[in-house]
Amino acid sequence: MSDFHSLGLSPEVLRALDDLGFESPSPIQAQAIPSLLSDAHDLIGLAQTGTGKTAAFGLPLLERIDPEFPHTQALILAPTRELGQQIAEQIDLFSKYLPKLNVLAVYGGAAISNQIKALHKPQHIIIATPGRLIDLIGRRAVKLDHLEILVLDEADEMLNMGFKEALDEILTYTPKDKMTWLFSATMPREIRRIVDEYMHKPIEVKVNQEQTLNKNIEHQFVSLNHNQKSAALKRFIDLDPDIRAVVFCRTKLDTQNLAEELMHEGYQADALHGDLSQAQRDRVMKRFKEHKLPILIATDVAARGIDVNDLSHVFHFALPDDAAYYTHRSGRTARAGKKGISLVFVGQRDFSKLKYLQSRLGIEFERVRIPDAKDIAFTRMDQWGQKVVDQKVMGVIPDHIIDHLEGLFAQLSQEELLGKIVAMEMEKIQVENQEDLNVSKSQKSKKGKGGKGGYNKSGNNGGPSFKAKRKPGSFKHGHKRKPAKRKRRD
Ligand code: AMP
Repeated sequence: MSDFHSLGLSPEVLRALDDLGFESPSPIQAQAIPSLLSDAHDLIGLAQTGTGKTAAFGLPLLERIDPEFPHTQALILAPTRELGQQIAEQIDLFSKYLPKLNVLAVYGGAAISNQIKALHKPQHIIIATPGRLIDLIGRRAVKLDHLEILVLDEADEMLNMGFKEALDEILTYTPKDKMTWLFSATMPREIRRIVDEYMHKPIEVKVNQEQTLNKNIEHQFVSLNHNQKSAALKRFIDLDPDIRAVVFCRTKLDTQNLAEELMHEGYQADALHGDLSQAQRDRVMKRFKEHKLPILIATDVAARGIDVNDLSHVFHFALPDDAAYYTHRSGRTARAGKKGISLVFVGQRDFSKLKYLQSRLGIEFERVRIPDAKDIAFTRMDQWGQKVVDQKVMGVIPDHIIDHLEGLFAQLSQEELLGKIVAMEMEKIQVENQEDLNVSKSQKSKKGKGGKGGYNKSGNNGGPSFKAKRKPGSFKHGHKRKPAKRKRRD
């Protein structure tokens, strides 16, 4: 597949894509971008979330805006506040090196006065939900007389949500000779009506479910009791000393509590949420980007705009309500051709949501086990063994040291020497009482029985087990630190 350079994008946009770890265009991007860049025409994109449709319209849109012209030139309509925020996040990232460009998202559920204030400055691109936009147009805070591009994203969802009349009204405020780019996962009759009525000779691009992006993401879930989620998370962290993960929580409080629990137990983790000051957030992000912090615990909103591209894992401590959020969360791993794991912690009440995501996004979640003590010990020792095998010797040890040690070890047989070296490494892994945290289907129906017994046939429930021993704060890149005191802004 061709890479982004051959599509005709500007160096500024290419640089931003490079930062994001986007290597090659997805099928819808490869089809839509060159055609939207070269000709001014209408477009119908039959594509769902996860196909890269936002960049398919967002990148050519950025190239077509004149930052020197102080008017709204592009409007992107989205059915929900969540989708609007996600689009805005992506447009912000794509336009990182276009400093003169102003982008604003406006949606219901947030103070309109702040949005009106932000609209005093010319916003070249507005991303909006239909209801709030009509409100803002009514208050003369938004003017669309100079609109050149109208994007209708998830048009079928907009109609499902009853925005048909709102759309008709908005379209009356826009100039006739604009371009309209309509994206929809399905093409019901009502969408065809919009196409026939408002669009002019649109070209059609289409991708199917199999062409969703991020083939390299393994979507997994574990089944567990709600109150065991943090214990399970620690097992996954213990399993992989090279882990680099974002853990998504639902609320700021959950985010802070989980971060504090992990930090208290010596894990190199920290929180990112809206109650932190900008300076605190910048500090956390700097450490995370510089690989000094392997675990970032975040809310969806706070994680917006994080352009990190080398995560090994995304953990969903709680599932988002909106499928687009799941796509964007999990899309933070498996970038730049690498593999990544998106793992959902599924409590008893979360299964229906998981099923919804499966059908909406066309992905298959694989059930995996929460590792137990034996798994952790085995995996850690296996990794260590592999490192020993790969270790270069020639030229590393000075002759006089090797001579001395050969003399010292001469009294030991080969097995004895190996045994001692392995034992030394094993001592770094501490024995602890670790129960099986997996919940089987039969357990789910027996409420209140907890996660003990049943699922794991290896029979080590409650017996002695192992936890990676770690000095407080000594995680791979770490240094000793106390849990940070947080200033609340309330
Ligand atoms: P979308 O379908 O637009 O909601 O995008 C799905 C996810 O894929 C988002 O997290 C994007 O940042 C990501 N993405 C979009 N295009 C690419 C690409 N060409 N390479 C890698 N990731 C991409």
